[in-house]
Amino acid sequence: MAETLAPVKPGRLIIDGKAVDAASGATFTTVNPATEEPITTVAEAGPEDVDRAVKAARIALDGAWAKMKPIDRSRVLWKLGDLVLEHADELARLETLDNGKPIFESRYVDIDMVARCFHYFSGWATKLTGDTTPVNPSLFTYTLREPVGVVGAIIPWNFPMIMVGWKTAPALAAGNTVVLKPAELTPLTAIRIGELALEAGMPPGVFNVLPGKGRIAGEALVKHPGVAKVSFTGSTEVGIHLMRTAADSLKKLTLELGGKSPNIVFADADLDAAVKGATIGIFYGKGEVCGAGSRLFVEKSIHDDFVSKLAERAKKLVPADPMDPKTRLGSLVSKPQMERVLGYVESGVKEGAQLIAGGQRQPINGKGAFVQATVLAGVNNRMRVAQEEIFGPVLSVIPFDGVDDAVTQANDVPYGLAAGVWTRDVKKAHTVARRLAAGTVWVNMYGFYDPAMPFGGVKGSGFGRDLGEACLQEYTQVKSVWMNLE
Ligand code: NAP
Ligand code: MG
Repeated sequence: MAETLAPVKPGRLIIDGKAVDAASGATFTTVNPATEEPITTVAEAGPEDVDRAVKAARIALDGAWAKMKPIDRSRVLWKLGDLVLEHADELARLETLDNGKPIFESRYVDIDMVARCFHYFSGWATKLTGDTTPVNPSLFTYTLREPVGVVGAIIPWNFPMIMVGWKTAPALAAGNTVVLKPAELTPLTAIRIGELALEAGMPPGVFNVLPGKGRIAGEALVKHPGVAKVSFTGSTEVGIHLMRTAADSLKKLTLELGGKSPNIVFADADLDAAVKGATIGIFYGKGEVCGAGSRLFVEKSIHDDFVSKLAERAKKLVPADPMDPKTRLGSLVSKPQMERVLGYVESGVKEGAQLIAGGQRQPINGKGAFVQATVLAGVNNRMRVAQEEIFGPVLSVIPFDGVDDAVTQANDVPYGLAAGVWTRDVKKAHTVARRLAAGTVWVNMYGFYDPAMPFGGVKGSGFGRDLGEACLQEYTQVKSVWMNLE
């Protein structure tokens, strides 16, 4: 326990293999949203720091990282995965302090995912190949698969360390170098993983970390001519803005944006499993989850029964101290986020939805951005609570009548990130999975992720994919070589 009670040291930028202060000397304070107490101060990167980091990353790209054998890059990434596991308690504690999520989630779910990202993608470093292509017997024609260059990774606050794994592991495995900007609200684990990367043997400049503000450091990264690609996870609004900004320097882009994902329960489903899946699908991670099943479609014939079981379960899920290992619902990331979420609950009730569980702030010792597990029933898909991403523990329940109605309503939102289907009918499951406009469909399960399975959206949820073999397309480019043999 001694380590878990230690004060958190101030966070610094990681540029060119060194922990440094911002060129301007600026710092900001990161706050624990559960206690509203400051955790520590963090150096705040500005344009000058972005420029230093990108230059270091460019040098490492053609230098130390390019000169390393793929098998050695692989070993460094594997080692980083091991170090994440070795520092699991420390990283999980930082994550929970910064974000407010239950220590149960950060220690036993998130850590594992981060480590698996580095372990899984380490294997790809030796398996990215080109082709030989028979064009003409008098020619030798082949392709080289090359890294795209310096990757600017900009990530949100909801899964701060998982996002580090998702973005940096494949980019680095493919031979790119990275400049990472964590969210201003949750910079601590990204900085710590950046330090561990150095310990793992990552050459200076390969993995740079720039905590700071999106509007300053993020913007400078997207504009910087030395950055070849920006990989972004965050809101649709900022994603659209980044696409416009990135156009000036023709950067490649991956945009993982918001969601309003449907979770569809047919009358022939295993209803106990579906109730459980529906609650985990929205309340895990306090509902601050891009793929959260925030619209629950329930077939009319089972609707009332299902909804009462759901309300019962939600009422048992009480917000509590995130540091307590028994807690399953923590604090939202900030007070403004809490106000936003409560505002949506109010708007749902005003538009005619019935509040059947939660709906209130529930502070602990008068403090914290805690919101109860909330269920709104009788929601119509046109209401704001059905169309807009709430990003909190608020479930909107919408009745439906048959497959066509379910699919039509499910697809009738600007987003298309994920979806869930609950049924015992195999044909129905596959047909509905095909008809849903979403990057991921879960059948008789919800909210599962693995580094080997691609994740990303369609429509307003963005484009490009994180994870899986698919994401390596985003981090490599193909060069065609023609050689005259005559
Ligand atoms: P956000 O405001 O879009 O911020 C995301 C990141 O972008 C942060 O690091 C932010 O920095 C930075 N940023 C903000 N403005 C910028 C600008 N003008 N130029 C460059 N960077 C800028 O989103 P958020 O509120 O942190 O996160 C919640 C959103 O993320 C939700 O909409 C959610 O759906 C989405 N999300 C999507 C996925 C997915 O895989 N599709 C996963 C997780 C979350 P600051 O922190 O300093 O503002
Ligand atoms: Mg914080």
